Amino acid sequence: MTADGPRAPAYEEAVRARIAAARLWAAHRAPYLASAVFALNPVILEPALDEDTGAPVADPQFRAFPADTRWNLYVEPGTALATPVEEAGWWMLHQVGHLVRGHAARSPVRPAPGQEVGPAAGVVRDEEAHRWNQAADAEINDDLEAEDLRGPAGVVSPAELGLPANRTAEEYVPMIDVLAQAMDRGGRALAEAIDCGSAVDGQERTYEGGGCGEGLTQLDRELLERSIAAGIQDRISARSEVPSGWRRWAEERVRPSVNWRARLGATVRRGLSTVAGQVDFSYRRPSRRVGAYTDIVPPSMVRAVPDTVLVIDTSGSVTRDVLSRLLAEVSGIIESVAGPHRRLRAFCCDVRPYPVQVVRRASDIELAGGGGTDMRAGIAAAMALRPRPDLVIVLTDGETPWPEQRPAAHVVVCLIGDGGHAPDWASVARIPADVPPRVPAKGES
Ligand SMILES: [Zn+2]
Repeated sequence: MTADGPRAPAYEEAVRARIAAARLWAAHRAPYLASAVFALNPVILEPALDEDTGAPVADPQFRAFPADTRWNLYVEPGTALATPVEEAGWWMLHQVGHLVRGHAARSPVRPAPGQEVGPAAGVVRDEEAHRWNQAADAEINDDLEAEDLRGPAGVVSPAELGLPANRTAEEYVPMIDVLAQAMDRGGRALAEAIDCGSAVDGQERTYEGGGCGEGLTQLDRELLERSIAAGIQDRISARSEVPSGWRRWAEERVRPSVNWRARLGATVRRGLSTVAGQVDFSYRRPSRRVGAYTDIVPPSMVRAVPDTVLVIDTSGSVTRDVLSRLLAEVSGIIESVAGPHRRLRAFCCDVRPYPVQVVRRASDIELAGGGGTDMRAGIAAAMALRPRPDLVIVLTDGETPWPEQRPAAHVVVCLIGDGGHAPDWASVARIPADVPPRVPAKGES
C-alpha cells in the first residue's frame, strides 16, 4: 500500500476481521455449507459515524446482514462491529438458506408502482412483504434449530411458536397470519420486523447499487448450488452428519428427475394460488348485468381463477414429443386447480411469437415453430394481451435470453433437461429431458 493511495477508513479492517471470524464460525458449525458460506460476497456499506467519536453507529435495520440474489451480503459497519461473531455467523447460514431455497423467485411480493422497499428507502414494508419474510425465515430457522443453531432474540422460531416443523414458507404464511393476529390482540408482536434483503423477496433495495456488476452470475450460482449439493451427498456417503432438510434439498438439486412430477405440480399450483390470493374478491371482472343501475358495479364475489397464459419454446432444441407430454402434465395440473375446460391462451415461440391460440386444454395446442430461441419475445407477447394474464407458464429448455426485469405477472418456468437456466424472478420446476408418457388420473378423458 502506498502512502498516497486512498486510505481505507479505520473501521474497515475491524469489520473485515469480524466477517472473516464469522465465516469461520459458520463453516465450522455447518461444514456441509462451508463452500456456500465462503461464496457469500461481503459488501461493506457506508456507515453513519458518531459525530463525537467518529466511530460507526449500528443501524438495527441491517441486523440480518441482508443479502441479494447475486450472493452479495450487505454489511453495515456499525452493525457488524456491534454483533458478536457467533451471531454474524448465524446470519450467514440463515442467508445461505434464503439463497439456495430460491425464496426471491418464490416470493409473492410485487412492488407497487414507484414504491421502494427496504431499510435504505426508509419505507415501512407492507404487510405482505413482512409476512413473507417471516414465513421464509420460519422455513430456514427450523432447519438451523434442528442443528441446535438457535437464532438471536427476536427472530421467528417455529419451535418456540409451536408451529409444525419441516414446512415450506408457503405453508407457514397462513399459520403466521393466524398467530400474528392472535398475538396482536394480546398486544405482543410475533417477532421483530427483520428485513433479510432482496434475497427473500426479489425486490431490489436502494443500498444495492442498481444491480450493477458485483456478485455471482446466474451460471455461477447454478454451478455453486450443484457443488454444494454434491458436497452434501459426499458427506452423506462418508456418513458425516447432515441435517435432514439439507439432505432433501441436495437430493432434489442433484437429481431433479426424482419426484419431478410432484414438484412440477407444487410449483404450478403455488403459482396459481399465489395469484388467486391476489385477485380474490376483486372488482376486476364486474358483472355485465348492471341494467338500469349503470353506476353500481357489483364485485364478483367468487374465487377468481387466475388468467393463465402458456408460452411454449418450439425452437429446434426442444423435441415435440417432450413438449406434448409436458403440456399434458401442465394441463392436468391446471384443471385440478381451476376446474376442467377453462379457457387457456398460449403462444408458441422460437425467435418470435406465433399467433395466440385459445384452447380449452393445453394438450389441444398446435405446436408451430422451429428456429432459434428468444423467450423474451414470447413473454412480451403474453404481457401485451388484454386482459393481461396473472400467471405466465413458460415451457423451455432454458437455452434462451430472458427479460432483465421481472414482468408484472407471476412467472413459472418449466425447465426441460439439465442445461439452460431460468431468471431469478421466476419460480422454476426442472423437468427431465425424457418426460415419460402421462398416465391419466381416474375420471379424466
Ligand atoms: Zn431471513
